[in-house]
Amino acid sequence: MSQLNLTNTLGGKVEPFEPIEDGHVRMYSCGLTVYNRGHIGNFRTFVSQDILRRYLEYKGLEVTQVMNFTDVDDKTINGAREAGLGLREYTQTFIDYFFEDCETLNIQRAEHYPRATDPEYLDAMVELVQKLEARGHTYKTEGSIYFKVDSLPEYGKLSKVDVAGIQSGARVDSDEYDKENARDFVLWKGPKEGEDSWDTAIGPGRPGWHLECSAMGMKILGETFDLHAGGVDLVFPHHENEIAQSEGATGKPFVKHWMHTEFLLVEGAKMSKSKGNQFTVKDLIDEGYSAMAIRYLLMSVYYRQQLNFTRDGLDQAATAIRRVDDFLARLGEVTRDGDASDETQEAVAAGLKRFETAMDDDLNTSAALAALFDLVKGGNTALSSSTVTQGDAAAFREAIERMNSVFGVFGRSEKLTLDEEVEKLIRERKDARAKRDFARADEIRAELDARQIVLEDTPAGTRWRRK
Ligand code: AMP
Ligand code: ZN
Repeated sequence: MSQLNLTNTLGGKVEPFEPIEDGHVRMYSCGLTVYNRGHIGNFRTFVSQDILRRYLEYKGLEVTQVMNFTDVDDKTINGAREAGLGLREYTQTFIDYFFEDCETLNIQRAEHYPRATDPEYLDAMVELVQKLEARGHTYKTEGSIYFKVDSLPEYGKLSKVDVAGIQSGARVDSDEYDKENARDFVLWKGPKEGEDSWDTAIGPGRPGWHLECSAMGMKILGETFDLHAGGVDLVFPHHENEIAQSEGATGKPFVKHWMHTEFLLVEGAKMSKSKGNQFTVKDLIDEGYSAMAIRYLLMSVYYRQQLNFTRDGLDQAATAIRRVDDFLARLGEVTRDGDASDETQEAVAAGLKRFETAMDDDLNTSAALAALFDLVKGGNTALSSSTVTQGDAAAFREAIERMNSVFGVFGRSEKLTLDEEVEKLIRERKDARAKRDFARADEIRAELDARQIVLEDTPAGTRWRRK
């Protein structure tokens, strides 16, 4: 198998990715903070990790993936209090939504989904703090325990934060802060009125967010594992602090490879609740978009580039999927006997090679998709000449299915009747015209025309008939 090269945030270079244990990858993904339903930005990151996972499996590697739920932090505690529910009960709703959305988006299941408040992981957090205490990396003040940043010379190696400016003894209690405010950070928070608290060997209180992931990761995957992933916002402070806690406690490298997915923007802007542009997968499904169009759009852009999520993008994604699904349907109609020709076999082998080269190049999904579409284009040309045999059809289908084991997006469209599909496209065209997007409106007319459907715009609306 060819070599996967992957950008490593630690060091900032593209590096060959090789698991520590031959044939087995251990990876940790920072999961959702379960205080509301995850938005499509979160799912961009989760889909990019799903693509990695699927590609590792494509290469024949076994994957053990952990994805945690952050179910105790400032946000979940506030949310539960406002809802008048216990923390576990409150966060369970969003965990259920998360699994529902993963299923909708055809995201493969991780092997482990630890929750920070699971007793065994709380124990692991306490033990980790004890190890850090024993090695002189902590101090206690006002009932909380902090990590002493200047006790670890390599602090800052992931995010390249400037440690020179950190004042000794200056502390930060909140889980999230920017590089300008880098300081000693909280490992264990002393009890506060109205907050959940656990009685433990290091005193009463609750874990800081960073501690949770270090403890859950090492408990399940070991003190050193292959890969740790999240969105770019996690590089600092979350992942920097995870490294400090883990390496401070074990004296061993925590993670070999760090993968960070760039942000998703909506119509060019940062998502925010106040702007009203923060969508969930369910919001988009309720608007009538297909789940696979959403997945396609999320994974079609190289993960280290920002992704501008637009409704036009969703329409284009739907068209792209239809092109492949139509091709698969046409292959199913081939009746001519015979083996795959040399020409087909060469085209298919070249297509797969291009796909792998693109994926090996830091998971370049857009180039990998281009390889698939060129194969479809070639296949469609062959189909129109009606020389295609069942052997050819099988070879094309197999190659596409192989690529699709990674993309996970084709051949799953809801089976719409022709009428439903045409009506849907007519609605889409009407919307496009209302938005003065005549290029898209014309594209839809042409697409229908190619399928032998003629449109007639009348004062009473658009009618259609077969040619
Ligand atoms: P959170 O629930 O905030 O802990 O985030 C869960 C995951 O989603 C983390 O890996 C974040 O880095 C990622 N994430 C949050 N917002 C975005 C966004 N707009 N685009 C891409 N990833 C995001
Ligand atoms: Zn995390």
